[in-house]
Amino acid sequence: MRVLALLDGTLADPDSPQIRVDDLGLMRGDGVFETILVVGGKPRELTPHLDRLDRSAAMLDMSPPPRAEFERAVELVIGNWTGGEEFALKLVYTRGVEGGDGTPTGFAIGMEIGAKVLKQRAEGLSAVTLDRGIDADLADRAPWLLLGAKSLSYAINMAALREAERRGAAEVIFTTSDGSVLEGPTSTLILVRGKTLVTPPSKLGILPGTTQYALFRAAERAGWTVLVEPIQTGELYDAEGVFLCSSVRKITRVTVLDGKQLPDSAALLTELQGLYESEY
Ligand code: PLP
Repeated sequence: MRVLALLDGTLADPDSPQIRVDDLGLMRGDGVFETILVVGGKPRELTPHLDRLDRSAAMLDMSPPPRAEFERAVELVIGNWTGGEEFALKLVYTRGVEGGDGTPTGFAIGMEIGAKVLKQRAEGLSAVTLDRGIDADLADRAPWLLLGAKSLSYAINMAALREAERRGAAEVIFTTSDGSVLEGPTSTLILVRGKTLVTPPSKLGILPGTTQYALFRAAERAGWTVLVEPIQTGELYDAEGVFLCSSVRKITRVTVLDGKQLPDSAALLTELQGLYESEY
């Protein structure tokens, strides 16, 4: 099941062609996107997602995404969804057609959540660390590299996931050249140390995660300490739990890292899930 809404407030057939072949989103991956979790007809963290869409578009020097039109498209998709209780709602905003009048292309599409994600939510996953080829200062030094923007150019992220598969794992934890932990190709890393949650800072050139933020908000209220600070790869092995979070996967535990078994964090996951769900 899929539902497609356009920015002019109409529904369209997701099985029919809608995008021109010369759209720069298609030709160059020149655009931005968001993926939002909808549960029981309610989009989670909608404002933070729309704010991040704005921020990504600004990093690409695009015109601000029209918020009212995106909100209307979100409502249209949700209102016409007849599939499962939970679904993924993707917002896409591209620079429009090559040589055109500069009108961006935008749409919202609701899609079922894949079986693989549901399995990983329940069972956890194995991950490998992969070098992202950047150092801690690169995002500041070279903003044109768009580190930390949620651009449509995810080919590197997808290639990293294929590399993980070649190495017998399901997921990736990117690291800087000097061994500092970054994020997953589509997720934020969180580590648990006692009653403390830690995630790496977005100034390293990673995406500020809405799921991580929601979890930290709830955890802090419940008396946990939350830290946003650099993490070295070696620290992952000393943690009580390592988790990858994102809107659609929610919180997923990493059970094996670079072939080594990590401590059993199933009970911890239940606790974190409780905190996260308490936000909604
Ligand atoms: N980091 C990257 C690179 C991502 O693509 C995503 C989401 O897809 C995340 C982190 C997690 O962000 P969120 O929790 O807002 O979904």
